[in-house]
Amino acid sequence: MLICTHVLAGAVIGRLLQRPFVAAAAGALSHFALDSRPHWGRPSPGARMDDVTLRVAVADGLSGLGLIAAVAATTPQRHLAPVLAGIAGSCLPDLDKPAELFFGRSPFPGTLDDWHARIQQERADLLVRDVVVAAGLTALVLAGLRAAARGSG
Ligand SMILES: [Zn+2]
Repeated sequence: MLICTHVLAGAVIGRLLQRPFVAAAAGALSHFALDSRPHWGRPSPGARMDDVTLRVAVADGLSGLGLIAAVAATTPQRHLAPVLAGIAGSCLPDLDKPAELFFGRSPFPGTLDDWHARIQQERADLLVRDVVVAAGLTALVLAGLRAAARGSG
């Protein structure tokens, strides 16, 4: 699942739940729920990413960082902690990918990584759909946060 989608889910969860620790836990649960739905991916044997997957992952990761900055800039100060906690919880489970790429190992126990890999429903034909969905959700979430910020004065 694109990390941008996890960022957006975490932002919405944090805004709705309002409590940082609850938002972080719910964000982490949302990660696994989303990963278990069909999404773009190129299943490959072993943990190594192929070049296409790596390019998409880098673009997605950088977009996700930009999205976190946009959400943070749009969220009223008093809602910022739970929104960022929701985002952190929703993105944390995928920390194994950059950790394996840069440091050669996951920070999580092997049983968790194995389970995380097993629940994936990756399909190579869903990239365009996933990008369109993430872009649409981005517009909706940022518009919702802006409207909420205006409404709460
Ligand atoms: Zn994941």
